[in-house]
Amino acid sequence: MYRLADKLLEQLKKLIRREFNRLGIFGFDELNAPRITRETIALYDRMLAENKKRFLEAAKKAYSDAVATAVAAEYREQGAMRIDDVWLDALLGAYNFVSGFLYESEAERKRLRLAEQMMTAREYQNRPLYNESLRRAANLWWTQTAHYMLDAVDAATLDGYRDCGVEKVKWITNIDGKECITCRSRHGKVYDIDNVPPKAHRNCRCYLLPVKKEGG
Ligand SMILES: [Zn+2]
Repeated sequence: MYRLADKLLEQLKKLIRREFNRLGIFGFDELNAPRITRETIALYDRMLAENKKRFLEAAKKAYSDAVATAVAAEYREQGAMRIDDVWLDALLGAYNFVSGFLYESEAERKRLRLAEQMMTAREYQNRPLYNESLRRAANLWWTQTAHYMLDAVDAATLDGYRDCGVEKVKWITNIDGKECITCRSRHGKVYDIDNVPPKAHRNCRCYLLPVKKEGG
């Protein structure tokens, strides 16, 4: 279910580390407010673009996997593939119940916070604080990235089912002793496809399967 997403996330993890480390090479004498603004804008712009590319790749795969799963459950594909930039922008532009924010506004908030921390560390010529700010910003960006990657996969999966006329889906929780109470209580439950509850927490790897067509 999340195999390609996990592979792409591994790439992003390395990229994030590399990108945020890049900001660590500047000497305090080189850093002024306009420079910090410029560098952080460029950084987040690159990371947003890298994320988008991979979210889209994972979503396209999830969509076609979902169609294949639905077809195996005796549904027939009716719609056309429409996982594209417009689709992704709509997903990222919507309020997200699990993260509790809007993707791009949150990226801008994180960027401003990082710029402020870089300025502060520079004022005090405090290298450890500066590096710690970069490290923390990288971790926060990673969390946001990982969350939205899974979200894109989940949304594309549901769209794939919908395009095959699936109306009901079954919640599947991987029962391994590490699952949370909410996820465990949902295991096996059937939901209307347009009424699936939002995931209870970040990094939830529960997934949905189409319920076999009645009388099909
Ligand atoms: Zn879960």
